[in-house]
Amino acid sequence: EMGTMMNQPLLISSIIRYAARYAATQEVVSHLGSGHMHRYTYAQCEQRARMLASALERSGLARGERVGTLAWNSYRHLEIYYAASGMGAVCHTINPRLHVDQIAFIINDANDRRVFFDAAFLPLVQVLADRCKAVQEWILLEDTTAAADAAQFKARAYEPLVQEGDAQYAWPSFDENAAAGLCYTSGTTGNPKGVLYSHRSTVLHAYAASLPNAMGISVQEVVAPLVPMFHVNAWGLPYTAPMNGAKLVLPGAQLDGETLYNLFEAEGVTFSAGVPSVWQGVLAHIHKIDGHFSSFRRVVIGGSACSASMIADFETFGVTVRHAWGMTEVSPLGTVCVPMPKHQALSDAQQAAIAARQGRALFGIDMRIADDQGKELPWDGKTFGNLEVRGNWVLDSYFGSGKSALSHGWFGTGDVATIDADGYLLITDRSKDVIKSGGEWISSIEIENIAMAHPSVFLAACVAAAHPKWDERPILVVVKKPGEQVDAAQLLQFFQGKVAKWWLPDAVVFIDEMPLTATGKMQKRVLRERYRDYLQN
Ligand code: ADP
Repeated sequence: EMGTMMNQPLLISSIIRYAARYAATQEVVSHLGSGHMHRYTYAQCEQRARMLASALERSGLARGERVGTLAWNSYRHLEIYYAASGMGAVCHTINPRLHVDQIAFIINDANDRRVFFDAAFLPLVQVLADRCKAVQEWILLEDTTAAADAAQFKARAYEPLVQEGDAQYAWPSFDENAAAGLCYTSGTTGNPKGVLYSHRSTVLHAYAASLPNAMGISVQEVVAPLVPMFHVNAWGLPYTAPMNGAKLVLPGAQLDGETLYNLFEAEGVTFSAGVPSVWQGVLAHIHKIDGHFSSFRRVVIGGSACSASMIADFETFGVTVRHAWGMTEVSPLGTVCVPMPKHQALSDAQQAAIAARQGRALFGIDMRIADDQGKELPWDGKTFGNLEVRGNWVLDSYFGSGKSALSHGWFGTGDVATIDADGYLLITDRSKDVIKSGGEWISSIEIENIAMAHPSVFLAACVAAAHPKWDERPILVVVKKPGEQVDAAQLLQFFQGKVAKWWLPDAVVFIDEMPLTATGKMQKRVLRERYRDYLQN
């Protein structure tokens, strides 16, 4: 016997349609640079997205074809999200910080037919155009082509294209399993791989991400995604905010602490999300001006480990940190850390230790840890294992690979973790960053978090160096805060009593600048190569 309820496809267009109907006058605010703001409503956003969808269809773009974007967070990028997926094409967000060779590879691999780009990326696009011949049109996100003309580059302007569209266009209906979005992993090993999201996976992820135990988005929030719309769809916020009718504040290209702080104050931002490195700038600014946040209350931090010291720092400004774990292959949200009522009885230090974990799986995600043979390991908060996940917004196969990436129905994340009895995940390492000393694992992330709590430390990475006796030993690579003085002995002293003695780094190296990836994470692979032989000499 089957249930007898309606069966409607879960389509991305239904999200913006909902916002246009139930949050018609709610604002979408974009910072276009130098304090120049653009504001309009969800009703206007949806209207323009429909016109763009119609214009794309009229220009011969077919369902299933890919549309690339090289753009910061702004209203036009949001319109492309909805127009491309809404008409049945695929919105392919490209990370402009990647190496140009990788970007060319990605555009060709995706077989993008149109690429929309911010004027700031004109020099990049000029190089790409010669190498990406399948792109039929490069569309400049401006009123006119003036900027492209000046550079003698043949582009189309965005605004006239939108105006070509039919204002009466109605969103089509189709299979919810149709492809909707494409995002490439950063390819730290080999070429980047595409993850092809469906309408169904995107809508289910948006529902789950909205939940109180996840991001907790309601109409009451003013949402500012600092995480770029090319970094795993800004963690779903361009979907969750309109799904809940929440005001959306899009920060554009200027992501320095001062600009962001002023934006948050001016727009009454209550909720935001981003990687730790972007928050360092905001916190440094608020300390510098001895300021406070008038409206900002909750922040989701993930992408790389958020240290307990950053969580504590936010706490002093009345902002609650929710530490989250995710990855491109998981759409991206897998876990979010929200404490349980029973945790209130714990000491401050114990509560801080929980808040620094990556938290529990969202409803809809199953997770487990397993050994190298695939045997499941216990949730005791101590046993390290390979983190595996499954669920309706977890990747099955990479774009174009034609073969499942799963093993026994689980996706291997490449992360090493412990899970405690309540299900709180703690990422101890990426498997390729793990330090194995005398056959035992040392958590590089835990060492980094301790170092980062030192007042003179700006960034710290812990990597393995080859060692004649122990195979590998940890060394700590540190960037000091400007003007701070601290030496290796003082830093190592700081670890006393915080970790087992054999976890103490064998050396501390001070550098001026940390190598970062295109998504703002410390490039530990580079450091590992640079310092592999450091302990041999
Ligand atoms: P890439 O870093 O290759 O661009 P992703 O953005 O998909 O790709 O990154 C996913 C990875 O980032 C995870 O597998 C994990 O190693 C790391 N990561 C994400 N969130 C956290 C977190 N809160 N703590 C520690 N590591 C994290």
